[in-house]
Amino acid sequence: MSDIIKRRNSRQVSVGDVKIGGDAPITVQSMLNAKTVDVEACIKQASELRAVGCDLVRLAVPDEKSAYAFGEIAKRTGLPLIADVHYNYKLAHLALDNGAKKIRMNPGNMQDFSQIKPLADRMRDMGVPVRVGVNGGSLDKRFKGMNEVDALVESALECANVFESAGMRDIVVAIKSSDTMTNVEANRKLASVCDYPLHIGVTEAGTFRTGLIKSAIGIGTLLKEGIGDTIRVSLSTNVLEEVLAGKKILQTLGIRKNAVEVVACPTCARTEIDVEALANKVELLTANVKKPLTISILGCPLNGIGEGENSDLGIAGGKEKSVILKDGKIFKTVNSKDLMIEFEKLLKEKLK
Ligand code: SF4
Repeated sequence: MSDIIKRRNSRQVSVGDVKIGGDAPITVQSMLNAKTVDVEACIKQASELRAVGCDLVRLAVPDEKSAYAFGEIAKRTGLPLIADVHYNYKLAHLALDNGAKKIRMNPGNMQDFSQIKPLADRMRDMGVPVRVGVNGGSLDKRFKGMNEVDALVESALECANVFESAGMRDIVVAIKSSDTMTNVEANRKLASVCDYPLHIGVTEAGTFRTGLIKSAIGIGTLLKEGIGDTIRVSLSTNVLEEVLAGKKILQTLGIRKNAVEVVACPTCARTEIDVEALANKVELLTANVKKPLTISILGCPLNGIGEGENSDLGIAGGKEKSVILKDGKIFKTVNSKDLMIEFEKLLKEKLK
């Protein structure tokens, strides 16, 4: 399917050893919601994100203390971290001192541009890219009254130009509106007038359910048109869900092929196990597996065995005894209390 998606040509930037744009695979990113000053909590959350396949992790750097904590987290995790500093030059320099591999700035909110040049010079010399852009809610007053799509595009290009004219080329641009279709329109327009790699997502997308739908449509539509080099699904829930959702969007579009597809039956009056809990567990367990496996989670042995015949692995769960499927056939019947242990054993074998 991805063969028919022709990616837009964009320039490439490097965030440590992770590339964004050009012919690099589309990356999935997320942002920690632990306080940056809580180094241990951040390290834990960043490792959990990496374990489910997050390519890039961003942290807010709202003050100096956070910048030093950022340095500690970068050192101890060894990850190429992105510092979110909004519009404070001093914090941007401090983040660079502390190992930031990309900096998110918001020049639209800056009052004084005189400090951009030394910052841009330094970032260029260090090979650290900047991400600039606009959110619908933070548009400068000058753009008020304008058609929102045009205002977002113009404002984003203006922000990018602040760094470009200061001599930087490694610039990622993001436009985010909480209105899904405005977001799509604005990114289409932006994509047609520049070669900056684009970070796409729907901002303030909402609750888990609403955010998933808005992001799947908003991000998915753009990716299907070849637009977007790095994505973030913004959700007001556990950050791991952002990564799982982002990866699922790429997988559904056929852009990421080497990934596990967990299918689960819709449940019915015959259901004997908690299908949703089990499917969630298996999804987490296999989130970072880079093999195109289909795993079926079915709620009863009676029909489940037949329904799992097209899967590489499967579970047809029962109250007392459950059936584990391999290559569409019964592999083993186990006591339901041992199901996950047995399933994990088989999964490990399959992944060898
Ligand atoms: S697999 Fe079993 S529990 Fe699941 S929907 Fe089919 S009949 Fe119902």
